[in-house]
Amino acid sequence: MAKVEETLLSGWGNYPKARVKLLSPSFYNELPRLLKKSLIARGLGRSYADQSLNDGGYVLNLNPLNRFLKFDEINGILKAEAGVSLKEILEVFLPKGWFPYVTPGTKYVTLGGMIASDVHGKNHHREGSVSEHVISLTLLTPKGDFLHLTPKDDLYWATVGGMGLTGIVTEVELKLRRVETSYILYRAFRVANIDAMLDVFSKYDPHHTYSVAWIDCLAGGKNLGRGVVMFGEHAPLEALPKKLKRNPLFFKKGPQLKFPFYAPSFLLNDLTMRLFNWAYYLTHPTYEGLVDYERFFYPLDSIESWNRAYGQRGFIQFQFVIPSAEDMKLILEKIVKHGGGSFLAVLKRMGKQRGYLPFGIPGWTLALDFPIKSGLFDFLKPLMREIVDRGGRFYLTKDALMDEGLFKASYPGFPRWYELRRSVDQDGILSSDLAKRLGMA
Ligand SMILES: Cc1cc2nc3c(=O)[nH]c(=O)nc-3n(C[C@H](O)[C@H](O)[C@H](O)COP(=O)(O)OP(=O)(O)OC[C@H]3O[C@@H](n4cnc5c(N)ncnc54)[C@H](O)[C@@H]3O)c2cc1C
Repeated sequence: MAKVEETLLSGWGNYPKARVKLLSPSFYNELPRLLKKSLIARGLGRSYADQSLNDGGYVLNLNPLNRFLKFDEINGILKAEAGVSLKEILEVFLPKGWFPYVTPGTKYVTLGGMIASDVHGKNHHREGSVSEHVISLTLLTPKGDFLHLTPKDDLYWATVGGMGLTGIVTEVELKLRRVETSYILYRAFRVANIDAMLDVFSKYDPHHTYSVAWIDCLAGGKNLGRGVVMFGEHAPLEALPKKLKRNPLFFKKGPQLKFPFYAPSFLLNDLTMRLFNWAYYLTHPTYEGLVDYERFFYPLDSIESWNRAYGQRGFIQFQFVIPSAEDMKLILEKIVKHGGGSFLAVLKRMGKQRGYLPFGIPGWTLALDFPIKSGLFDFLKPLMREIVDRGGRFYLTKDALMDEGLFKASYPGFPRWYELRRSVDQDGILSSDLAKRLGMA
């Protein structure tokens, strides 16, 4: 029997919050009966804002539906329920020599959440988003039909990146990649400014599967864009020293540390952010060697509940993609000048992305966290307009601030997406706070 609980929920940014009726099914076959008016699916709640919230309505918790169903050991194709997390996949399949093609910066996400956001990793410019590595999925539509969708179906491309608004993803067939070890051949370059960073990207990117950079977004002037660029490749067995060869494929248990409480607001000042950024810069020298997959892909997972570091008021993540490097520099400069900072700013390269609501366009994506403070939105909103005017767009799974006009101006596939959504949900059963804010419902 499904549990129903009235509760206050938020996304990873702890902003905004919503009072919802949370439905937790115990069995797969209960799902059709739970299709109530005003409902949205939720995985592990790692989207940052109102994506899996539905104030006054229902939220369907898919976590309990987390069974592995089948594994094709020759082709690496895993069939699983949509509530299975990436952590659970790694725990079982990494020791057998399999790794996901695309992983976001945390393993605490479900298959359903990854598909609804069409997540990308550090290899987007080479291997695309997760939708390129899905063989098929099962979608429970608001009418109660279970549809088997593959990349040949139009509705597949409306469901990936469709933020849960075309139906409930219930099962997924995902292709995994063969790896010989849990290690990454890692190269890091500490750079003094943004031009040096872009030079390193253009020189080394063509030779690596994964790339990402961290930027000290408090350093301005001639130090603008100071940071560390990191590249990686799955390490073959022969690259490991004898000692590591004894256990080349391991799953690392964790996290070891937990952020115990919400940080008091006086800690969130320019000085603490500056100290953090300095420390990061100093502890990440130019280096070449082996690191384990956790350190390379999931450094933030090592501290449980790290989102509490931004205090009770929460934070927003501001992630945009913009075609031109010059425009990216200009926006970064404005953010640094304004201050109000971020513990982490991450720069990645992006390639093309299929689908009706793709985040990815060829260019650069910059992601920054901002603790909620008075005056923050007044600064960010005009900047968002400017980013869209320069051909950029914001990532739906992280956004907390866009309005309908800005969303529709930057996602040209919306009218076709909306037609496809209407074809499966004429009565508007599915809805979320994000959908209401952006006029998607
Ligand atoms: C530390 C951190 C790092 C991250 N790094 C990246 C990154 O590098 N790249 C990236 O792309 N993203 C990144 N993300 C974002 C994250 O990958 C996405 O928000 C992902 O969708 C979260 O999955 P979830 O299971 O927690 O889904 P939720 O947050 O619960 O839901 C997200 C969306 O998916 C929908 N949804 C969930 N389950 C289903 C289902 N079964 N059927 C239909 N719809 C469903 C929800 O309705 C909602 O719209 C990061 C997030 C964090 C916290």
